[in-house]
Amino acid sequence: MMNDSVSGSVVDSRCGLHCTGCEYKDSCNCGGCIETNGKPFHGECPVAVCCQEKGLTHCGECPDIPCELLTQYSCDAEHGDTPPGARIEQCRQWKMEQDAGH
Ligand code: SF4
Ligand code: SF4
Repeated sequence: MMNDSVSGSVVDSRCGLHCTGCEYKDSCNCGGCIETNGKPFHGECPVAVCCQEKGLTHCGECPDIPCELLTQYSCDAEHGDTPPGARIEQCRQWKMEQDAGH
Protein backbone atom coordinates (compact mmCIF):
# COMPACT_ATOMS: atom_id res chain seq x y z
CA MET A 1 0.00 0.00 0.00
CA MET A 2 1.64 3.26 -1.09
CA ASN A 3 -0.92 5.63 0.37
CA ASP A 4 0.10 8.00 3.12
CA SER A 5 -1.78 7.06 6.22
CA VAL A 6 -2.70 9.83 8.63
CA SER A 7 -4.38 8.77 11.85
CA GLY A 8 -7.35 6.59 10.96
CA SER A 9 -7.97 8.39 7.69
CA VAL A 10 -6.12 7.37 4.60
CA VAL A 11 -4.96 10.18 2.34
CA ASP A 12 -5.94 8.50 -0.90
CA SER A 13 -6.07 11.45 -3.29
CA ARG A 14 -4.50 14.87 -3.79
CA CYS A 15 -7.79 16.77 -3.79
CA GLY A 16 -9.68 15.14 -0.92
CA LEU A 17 -11.88 12.85 -2.99
CA HIS A 18 -12.12 9.29 -1.69
CA CYS A 19 -10.64 6.85 -4.17
CA THR A 20 -11.64 3.95 -2.00
CA GLY A 21 -15.07 2.90 -3.12
CA CYS A 22 -15.05 5.00 -6.29
CA GLU A 23 -16.93 3.30 -9.14
CA TYR A 24 -14.12 4.04 -11.63
CA LYS A 25 -11.59 2.12 -9.62
CA ASP A 26 -12.82 -1.19 -10.99
CA SER A 27 -14.75 -0.19 -14.10
CA CYS A 28 -11.87 1.86 -15.58
CA ASN A 29 -9.05 0.09 -13.80
CA CYS A 30 -8.04 3.39 -12.20
CA GLY A 31 -4.91 3.29 -10.08
CA GLY A 32 -5.69 6.51 -8.20
CA CYS A 33 -3.87 9.81 -8.55
CA ILE A 34 -1.28 9.26 -5.84
CA GLU A 35 -0.17 5.86 -7.12
CA THR A 36 -0.16 7.00 -10.74
CA ASN A 37 1.67 10.24 -9.97
CA GLY A 38 -1.20 12.46 -11.08
CA LYS A 39 -2.24 10.45 -14.12
CA PRO A 40 -5.30 8.36 -13.24
CA PHE A 41 -7.31 6.63 -15.93
CA HIS A 42 -8.65 9.83 -17.52
CA GLY A 43 -5.22 11.36 -18.09
CA GLU A 44 -3.27 13.98 -16.23
CA CYS A 45 -5.17 15.78 -13.48
CA PRO A 46 -4.34 19.48 -13.03
CA VAL A 47 -5.14 19.38 -9.31
CA ALA A 48 -2.83 16.43 -8.69
CA VAL A 49 -0.09 17.95 -10.86
CA CYS A 50 -0.36 21.29 -9.02
CA CYS A 51 0.00 19.52 -5.68
CA GLN A 52 2.96 17.49 -6.85
CA GLU A 53 4.73 20.52 -8.29
CA LYS A 54 4.45 22.19 -4.90
CA GLY A 55 5.82 19.07 -3.25
CA LEU A 56 2.60 18.47 -1.32
CA THR A 57 0.83 15.22 -0.57
CA HIS A 58 -2.63 16.78 -0.75
CA CYS A 59 -4.29 20.19 -1.14
CA GLY A 60 -4.82 20.54 2.62
CA GLU A 61 -1.11 21.27 2.96
CA CYS A 62 -1.37 24.20 0.54
CA PRO A 63 -1.55 27.77 1.87
CA ASP A 64 -3.80 28.69 -1.06
CA ILE A 65 -6.58 26.24 -0.26
CA PRO A 66 -9.24 26.56 -1.54
CA CYS A 67 -7.85 27.89 -4.80
CA GLU A 68 -10.02 28.49 -7.83
CA LEU A 69 -9.05 25.18 -9.43
CA LEU A 70 -9.89 23.07 -6.40
CA THR A 71 -13.12 24.99 -5.80
CA GLN A 72 -14.09 24.34 -9.40
CA TYR A 73 -13.50 20.59 -8.98
CA SER A 74 -15.27 20.44 -5.66
CA CYS A 75 -18.27 22.62 -6.42
CA ASP A 76 -19.00 21.81 -10.05
CA ALA A 77 -22.75 21.31 -10.41
CA GLU A 78 -22.43 18.18 -12.54
CA HIS A 79 -19.24 16.43 -11.42
CA GLY A 80 -18.56 18.08 -8.10
CA ASP A 81 -19.01 16.78 -4.60
CA THR A 82 -22.12 15.99 -2.63
CA PRO A 83 -22.39 18.25 -0.74
CA PRO A 84 -20.41 20.84 -2.73
CA GLY A 85 -17.04 21.52 -1.12
CA ALA A 86 -16.82 18.11 0.55
CA ARG A 87 -13.33 17.36 -0.70
CA ILE A 88 -12.05 20.76 0.44
CA GLU A 89 -13.29 19.92 3.92
CA GLN A 90 -11.65 16.49 3.69
CA CYS A 91 -8.32 18.11 2.83
CA ARG A 92 -8.64 20.44 5.81
CA GLN A 93 -9.45 17.46 8.00
CA TRP A 94 -6.35 15.59 6.81
CA LYS A 95 -4.24 18.65 7.55
CA MET A 96 -5.71 19.04 11.03
CA GLU A 97 -4.96 15.40 11.78
CA GLN A 98 -1.39 15.86 10.56
CA ASP A 99 -0.96 18.98 12.70
CA ALA A 100 -2.35 17.16 15.71
CA GLY A 101 0.49 14.72 15.24
CA HIS A 102 -1.58 11.59 14.80
S1 SF4 B 1 -9.67 14.97 -9.29
FE1 SF4 B 1 -7.45 14.77 -9.54
S2 SF4 B 1 -6.59 15.01 -7.51
FE2 SF4 B 1 -8.77 14.52 -7.29
S3 SF4 B 1 -8.92 12.31 -7.09
FE3 SF4 B 1 -9.15 12.79 -9.23
S4 SF4 B 1 -7.10 12.65 -10.08
FE4 SF4 B 1 -6.89 12.83 -7.87
S1 SF4 C 1 -5.18 23.96 -3.22
FE1 SF4 C 1 -5.08 24.57 -5.37
S2 SF4 C 1 -3.14 25.66 -5.55
FE2 SF4 C 1 -3.04 24.43 -3.70
S3 SF4 C 1 -2.11 22.47 -4.31
FE3 SF4 C 1 -4.33 22.23 -4.43
S4 SF4 C 1 -4.84 22.70 -6.55
FE4 SF4 C 1 -2.82 23.51 -6.18
